[in-house]
Amino acid sequence: MEFGWTAKASALHKRRMLNSFALAGALAVSTPGTAGGIAAVDLAGDRVTLRFDEAVDGASAFLLDGPQRIALDIHGAQASARGLGGGESAIAAVRQGQLNDETARVVLDLSSPVVPADARFAADGKSLSFSLKSVSDAGFRSAIGKGRSIIEAPDTMAARPPRRVHSITVPIPPAAKGVALPPIEGPRDASRPLVVIDAGHGGHDPGALNKDLARREKDVTLAIARAIRDQLVRTGRVRVALTRDDDRFLVLQERYGIARRLSADLFISIHADAAENIEAQGATVYTLSETASDREAARLAARENKADIINGVNLGGQSGDVSSILIDLTQRESMNISSSFAQLLQREASPYVPFRSAYHRFASLMVLKAPDIPSVLFETGYISNAADAEFLSSREGQGKIARGVARAIEVHFARKLAMRGSDVGG
Ligand code: ZN
Repeated sequence: MEFGWTAKASALHKRRMLNSFALAGALAVSTPGTAGGIAAVDLAGDRVTLRFDEAVDGASAFLLDGPQRIALDIHGAQASARGLGGGESAIAAVRQGQLNDETARVVLDLSSPVVPADARFAADGKSLSFSLKSVSDAGFRSAIGKGRSIIEAPDTMAARPPRRVHSITVPIPPAAKGVALPPIEGPRDASRPLVVIDAGHGGHDPGALNKDLARREKDVTLAIARAIRDQLVRTGRVRVALTRDDDRFLVLQERYGIARRLSADLFISIHADAAENIEAQGATVYTLSETASDREAARLAARENKADIINGVNLGGQSGDVSSILIDLTQRESMNISSSFAQLLQREASPYVPFRSAYHRFASLMVLKAPDIPSVLFETGYISNAADAEFLSSREGQGKIARGVARAIEVHFARKLAMRGSDVGG
């Protein structure tokens, strides 16, 4: 049935964009006849089999390092929102996403270095299998150097039913648009400023580790984010939302994407990274800049920005070289506000939290790229340092950090209000 346009086209388009993720998932599940949908990835011993709803056109495989992954591009296939399992043998997790109209990408996150061997399609073109061959780290790196290997699909065109003319292909938007928005807590008054707190890392990305003390950055950041939220809710002056309130993985764009979709006024990403020098301790606040302020900042950005590549799926549309992204005027203004917040954070939180002497650093951090929202990345301390790790993992330490952050937030918005007031008065 065809209806006339009763709503504004742009509103309809927007609504459709919002629905498309859920819709795509539903379509893939409810109509198994969709061309080449990825039905399952079976792991049996060292043999991996990808199953498709229909014959696909071919595939290619390549390896990625840091962390080690096997990526498979399946041509003529449609990814779905289905989870594909993992957690067995050398494969920690299996993910899928749509690279472009024609190609779905399946990424196998590896827990130990393996490379695919004797990959082949079944005669009907509906499954692709290969075995996993254990190699050394050096062997894995040299296999990366060999580049992409092409896996030819059998010619099943003759046997294949023609694709339905009416079939609708709904592109799956990048995951950044797909995540559900978190609840907003605090006062119901929507005129109150909204702060989004982002617990760094999560899910299959543990962040930095302190093996001696069995501490993982992703747990520490979540506990601190929750403590900050609770503190802000208690003081009741601002609204607050967490990008994640459990152990889940979000790509970097999803993190600031949530802040943008909620029209947040401030974004704080919480981290507790490792330093090469285990003596290094204290907190640091990072704000966005095209160039890093020093070598350590550059290294941190390189490490943190890799979190996105783990996803392996969104990269199609996203340049890995984040430093080359042009920064427009809105972003410059946000950057200035971010910088003043960084200084405020140190001033207000230093009675509670030890800071490094060079406490404000700059780096091209992807998670700070929301052009219109002042954003800081708060390195609350080094998980690699025993004293810091204890402080960050303790309720007392988390409470102190929360108090310091909440005070800075309060002063920040009080200043903004005062400035607005003087604008009106003048
Ligand atoms: Zn981190």
